[in-house]
Amino acid sequence: MLILPDWSPEPPLQRLELDWLAHAGVEVAVLRLDLIDPQLSGNKWYKLKPHLREAAAAGRAGVMTLGGAHSNHLHAVAAAGVRFGFATVGLLRGEPCDTPTVRDLEAFGMRLHWLGYGGYRARHREDFWDAWRQRYPDLHPVPEGGGGLPGAQGCVELVELARRQLPALGWDDYHGWWLAVGTGTTLAGLALGEAGQRPVHGALAVSEDHGVPRRLAELGLAREHYHLQPACRGGFARLDDALLAFMRDTEDATGLSLEPLYTAKALLALRERVAAGEVPAGTRLIFVHTGGLQGWRH
Ligand SMILES: *Cc1c(COP(=O)(O)O)cnc(C)c1O
Repeated sequence: MLILPDWSPEPPLQRLELDWLAHAGVEVAVLRLDLIDPQLSGNKWYKLKPHLREAAAAGRAGVMTLGGAHSNHLHAVAAAGVRFGFATVGLLRGEPCDTPTVRDLEAFGMRLHWLGYGGYRARHREDFWDAWRQRYPDLHPVPEGGGGLPGAQGCVELVELARRQLPALGWDDYHGWWLAVGTGTTLAGLALGEAGQRPVHGALAVSEDHGVPRRLAELGLAREHYHLQPACRGGFARLDDALLAFMRDTEDATGLSLEPLYTAKALLALRERVAAGEVPAGTRLIFVHTGGLQGWRH
């Protein structure tokens, strides 16, 4: 039976020193979710925890979930399974292929099923899980990316984890959050945690027709508590030279490793807003490093 793991990592909050921030008088601290664990890294652990709680309450032996061949979510689920001793099944998009992520999933003991592309699209159908529930009656289904309200609720604690560390930075307060958005689940958790006290700025790593505002409304978020801006630069998986150069420059200047799909796009979007004069001097922001470095190995 799955027992809810008693694991409460403490992601450090660290100042980010970059010329373009200093010139604009803007201060940024990074909440390093990438550092919570070498295998189980990033925002995915926080989104997963409430799903594990549900699985434990239902007396299940493990979880089954969905993702692609580079999925940070599948990686976190499989790593949690091997670490905390519960069964995991991964339903993968597309045809079997060999990536560093897939090799890790196998090494972690996740059982994999490749659904093809059409089969994967069926995940949105209401009856999608029926056949998998029959096949694996002992496993608790977790939506793609660990989303939904449970996933968002798992991210609420990030607000407190960061606030606790403000005195060590010499900050008495901050003006808002900045982070990359895929499904918007992590942003929703921060906005729930702030309850309107400070704005949460989401840089959309996916294209604007992905339905993020609709999903945030379904999670009950008030429109005035968050701000979304386009940051996908032509498509989720599209990488351009300026983005890759920015990512390398940031790493050279600060030692902070980013990946190009989410975190580098989000920080570059902040630089663009700063360059446009939209972020007043004296602003203090918490940037969430949502992890994802495992998916960028090649
Ligand atoms: C999954 C992921 C995100 C997106 O998180 P959402 O909660 O879906 O918005 C952001 N950054 C990284 C590195 C991710 O792996």
